[in-house]
This record gives sequence, C-alpha cells and structure tokens, in this order.
Amino acid sequence: MKTLNIEKEIRKNKNKYVKTLKKFVQQPSISADGTGIEGMVKILTEEMNKIGISTRLLKSSTGGNPVILGTLNKNSGYNLLVYGHYDVHSVGDLNDWDYEPFSAEIIGNKIIGRGTADNKGNFLSWIKAVEILKDLGIDIPFNIIFFFEGEEEIGSPNLENIIRENEKYIPKLDAKIVFEPRQDSQGHPFINLGWKGMLSLKVIFKNKGGQIHASYGSIVSHPIFEMVKAINKIYDGNMILLPDFYNDIISVSGEEEKCIEKIGLCKKGIVKGLGGESIKQIDLSDKEIIKILLLEPSMTISAVSAGSVIPPVRSVVLGSASFLIEFRLVPNQNSKNIYQKLVKYLNELNLNCKVEVELLSNSEPTRTSVRDPFVEKIRKACNSTFNCECYVYPNLQGTSPDHLFKKLYQIPSLGCGCGFHHLCHRPNEYITVEQYMKGIELATKIILELSN
Ligand SMILES: [Zn+2]
Repeated sequence: MKTLNIEKEIRKNKNKYVKTLKKFVQQPSISADGTGIEGMVKILTEEMNKIGISTRLLKSSTGGNPVILGTLNKNSGYNLLVYGHYDVHSVGDLNDWDYEPFSAEIIGNKIIGRGTADNKGNFLSWIKAVEILKDLGIDIPFNIIFFFEGEEEIGSPNLENIIRENEKYIPKLDAKIVFEPRQDSQGHPFINLGWKGMLSLKVIFKNKGGQIHASYGSIVSHPIFEMVKAINKIYDGNMILLPDFYNDIISVSGEEEKCIEKIGLCKKGIVKGLGGESIKQIDLSDKEIIKILLLEPSMTISAVSAGSVIPPVRSVVLGSASFLIEFRLVPNQNSKNIYQKLVKYLNELNLNCKVEVELLSNSEPTRTSVRDPFVEKIRKACNSTFNCECYVYPNLQGTSPDHLFKKLYQIPSLGCGCGFHHLCHRPNEYITVEQYMKGIELATKIILELSN
C-alpha cells in the first residue's frame, strides 16, 4: 500500500521532476574542456541543500573538478554511498545531432540532450527520491553519502588523490550504489555486480636518427614497420599474446553462471544497441557472445599516429610512430601487472628502434558476490519497480573507479539505474520521461528496502 502511494506520488510530481532535469541538462558540464563545470557544481549543490543534504566540495592538490560530497545524516551506524557524476561526455560532431545537445528538448516522451541519462537523470533520481520521502513524511533511518564526481567522462584522473586527501570526510562505508543507465537495448533492467578494469597506454616507436631521407630506406630502420610488427605480436585478431596474460583470471561461481544464463539479451539485441555494427564471432550462440562480452578481457587500438597522408609526397622514413592501446581487464587481473608484462614483452621483441610505453590511465576490475545480502535487497527493489526479473551481470563490460572505494573499504558495490545503457555518449542521447520516473521509483524503493 505504502509502495503504491509512492508510485502515484511520483507521477503526480512528474512535471516538476522533468523541469529539474531539463534545467540540469541545459547547464553544460563537459569535463573534457571544462565548459559549464562551475555552473553545474553551483546548481547541483543548491538542489541538494534545498532538501536538507549538506554538501562539501572535495578537491585535490593535483587540481581537476571537485567531488560534491553530500551527507544526509541520520546519526545511524549504516552508511550507504551513492555514486554519480555531474560531468558529461563531449558532444562530438554537432552535425550528428538532430537537436541542440543542451536544449533538453522534449520530443514525444523523450527528453533529448547530452547527459540526460548519463548521468543527470540518474543522480537526480536519488535527489528526488529523498525529496519525495521527505514530502510524504517517511523517515530514512540510515545515512546516505552522495559522492558526485566531475571527471568520470575523462577517466577520473584526480579521483584517487581526491579520495586520499579527503579520507577524513568520507565515513566508514557499508555499501555502495552506482546509479547509471542500466536498461539494455530491449529496455530490460539489469544490475551489475562489478566492473571491468582498464589499462590505457601510449606506445611510441622512435628511430634513433629521427626523420631520414627515403632514399636511405634500404639501410635504416622504419618505426612504422616496427610498430606494425609489435601490434601483430601483441594480438592475433582473437587472442592477446602477452605471456601469462590470462593466468590470473578467476572464473565465475556456479550461481553467477546461472545469472548469466538468465540474461535474455541476444546477439540481435546487442547488434541493435550498437547501431548495426558487426559482431566478430557471429556464429557463436547468444550466451557465448554475452559471456565473451562480460567475462573475457579485451584489447583495442584506439589510435595510430605516424606522419601525414595529405599530399605532397614526402620521401622520408619517419622518425617515429605511435599508437594508443587499451586493455579491459576482468577479475582478478591487475593493471600494473599487465603494464609491466607489456613493457617486458616489447623489450624482448628486440625491435629495430627505441620503444617507449607511457601509462595514460588504469583501473582495477571488481566483482561483488551475488550472495551478498545487499545484492538481494537491490534486486527486490529493481524487480518491483520494473515489474519483471531484472538481469544480474557479474560485472559490466565497462569500467568505473569502483576499485578506489573497494581499496578503502571492503564493501558490496553494484550498479543499477534507469535509461538505455547503449545510448550513452552517442549523439541524440535521451531518456524517456517514463524511464526517469522509474529511476526515481527505483531509488525510493531501494531506500525503503534498506530501511527494513
Ligand atoms: Zn559516460
């Protein structure tokens, strides 16, 4: 009865909630170039203070955008951390957008704009959940710590320092929720119990003599050829060839295996979500594809750089070539370990040029046990909100700075939320009004579930 009233109450306030989201989307907050960050910190802080959440800006000596740490203090011994991010991904090429990215135009039932789902519609769901419970006179019997960071979309480069330098302000935590778009391309909700880790590197190949006239090509070494040789030695199109690369991986438990079996997402759905891009091993079954996506590490070369392809003819052997490489890691791989393996491996290839490896960013994979009682409570709230059995992913294929909190406190941690996961970072990103309402309902039900 109580739940039913809350659901109705949320719908009664629909216009008010949509108005807040529009206001937040209309305030740009692009961490890649700093656009609008200050304004976003201001309106978000005000919104939180308005409903009794006290706030503090956490900064780091290394600079960057502050974390907004909000506390709803109930003098309880239980502290739930809610993680979100107020920065948005860059808009990319404006020509790819059918609407102005920061106009928050409503077309039909869609609120369109950069950050609607990732992550403004999601962190606002929690603020609105606190607001509605307050309006209804329902007490929240535990402490909620809101941790809204401003550099998630650029890999959280200062987050480790922010946490280390402000540890005294972060109380001992009992559990953590990351609220982000967690509906698959068919709209089905899911919970992820962890994240893949990441290792991002720049590898540079240099000719000792620098750029040399092409007529000497027969007797000098070519950084581009050496680079191509190295790439082929790292990846064969299917497997990562670094020695012992797969050794540390732990397999999922029987129960986690069962969760994967229940995931109803199919190849067709994934392809639809990717906008029609091809799946490499299309002959594999749906389940095999899901398992590869979630449970296997991967490697991507996201950029290759050498010279210029714009005429005129240059007649040179280039002095250098480089590429950006990114590994996605699974439990129990370790990014620093893989980094060292790669450096050693490249050295042992005895290439005909100097090789430098620059570490750009890294994070560790995490996974919470599906047996944790916290997981059960969130599942219950999610199933009841969406009126179906939500899927449980042992970990997401994406990454999050989850390991920084796990390092601090060994706590259960998971991701859930509203909006389409596959639309994040794309032009014409949107959240439907219904999805946003479900997000508020989910946050409210999680609070009520944890109150029991
Ligand atoms: Zn994002």
